[in-house]
Amino acid sequence: MTNKTVAIIGGGPAGLMAADRLSRAGFTVTIYEAMPTLARKFLLAGKSGLNITHSEEYARFSSRFGEAGSHLKAALDDFTPDDVRAWAADLGTETFIGSSGRVFPKAMKASPLLRAWIKALQDQGVMIRTRHRWTGFSENGYRFTTPDGDVTVMADAVILALGGASWPRLGSDAAWVPWLRDIGVAATDFKPANCGFDVTWSDMFRDRFAGEPVKSVVARSAAGEIQGEFVISRHGIEGSLVYAHAAALRDDLHHHGKAEFLLDLAPGKRLEKLVDDLARQPTKASFSTRLRKATSLEGVKAALLREIVPDIASRDAASLAGLIKALPVPLLRPRPLAEAISSAGGIDWSGIDRSYMLLGRPGLFVAGEMLDWEAPTGGYLLTACLATGRAVAVGVIRWLTDDADA
Ligand SMILES: Cc1cc2nc3c(=O)[nH]c(=O)nc-3n(C[C@H](O)[C@H](O)[C@H](O)COP(=O)(O)OP(=O)(O)OC[C@H]3O[C@@H](n4cnc5c(N)ncnc54)[C@H](O)[C@@H]3O)c2cc1C
Repeated sequence: MTNKTVAIIGGGPAGLMAADRLSRAGFTVTIYEAMPTLARKFLLAGKSGLNITHSEEYARFSSRFGEAGSHLKAALDDFTPDDVRAWAADLGTETFIGSSGRVFPKAMKASPLLRAWIKALQDQGVMIRTRHRWTGFSENGYRFTTPDGDVTVMADAVILALGGASWPRLGSDAAWVPWLRDIGVAATDFKPANCGFDVTWSDMFRDRFAGEPVKSVVARSAAGEIQGEFVISRHGIEGSLVYAHAAALRDDLHHHGKAEFLLDLAPGKRLEKLVDDLARQPTKASFSTRLRKATSLEGVKAALLREIVPDIASRDAASLAGLIKALPVPLLRPRPLAEAISSAGGIDWSGIDRSYMLLGRPGLFVAGEMLDWEAPTGGYLLTACLATGRAVAVGVIRWLTDDADA
């Protein structure tokens, strides 16, 4: 037991995991959360099944975090996907591996896990103060607005786990960026990650196909060649295959004003075979009949060809086959940050030490999505938030106790 106090600001997965580790170590822990309830984004993630981690080989798993991977490695090594599953099981949530290798709770939702987690934290003595919005630094502490007026909080160590900048109405609104920049902390501007893209669809295509999935296609971009599915939206395209390419597409659009996103609508068929099969169709048959008979393409896939290449029906077999294998989707821009699954950007790694403590601000630590990293969907986001939440707690324990074995 210790009488040292730790304030955790932000009650998402990163903050809750830090609270768990610190309260087990005997610290007096208080979570301050702006919203009326904790972990709203975690609950929303539960609406699509809560993909909590991934079962692929660990070396591959830990390579999913791009340039930031080296900074996250120690935290991930200490809290691996297997540890995530064991942690959930300890809280009564058994998980299973889906066909894609992604890991989900058997209940396919977040609420039972969150309820059990909050109860365990309260049993461990963690105090939870909701409707406490951090509004910046005061001379001697951290200023909050609360329903009972403004308060100043002081603690032996403080962890910020304020999240990124997507879905601000769930709480993580990135209002903290200027306050940290004011005290000399470098933070990269937030950008959408795992986001959809705008495409100018014709009214006819949009009204007929918005919401329609485009299944079993391969998409090619600077991110490589990835098989999967996506969804036509009213604004353009959304869905897991788009998210997998999103960082590369976003960066290409930003740097070059355009991004190559090529769809192979018939990934099982070689180009030469398609050319032969198309050339064999009687010229007097309609375009859709020739296409269906030669390639089996119909519905939304056939409509995409017509939408993107208006004169497609007059193309010869070679040109048509080429477009079926590499249909360029004319992307305009990423959808707004507020709609993205996650955000890239945040606190720069140069400004924190290996314990996640801000270099210029001893005793102030940071964790979770507010750090500058990004990853695709697949359970990587939550795993890294949980892992950095745990790592920051270990850093705080070392800082407050000089315990090298923490
Ligand atoms: C629709 C959707 C689906 C998702 N699905 C998945 C998925 O299946 N798998 C996956 O791995 N990831 C998923 N994610 C991403 C994942 O939920 C986030 O990466 C994760 O919640 C980030 O955790 P965090 O603790 O860093 O921040 P957050 O969960 O954003 O928590 C930050 C907390 O800080 C609070 N806060 C912010 N500012 C203040 C302030 N000034 N004062 C006090 N409190 C403050 C916020 O209210 C919030 O509760 C999904 C995200 C979305 C939007």
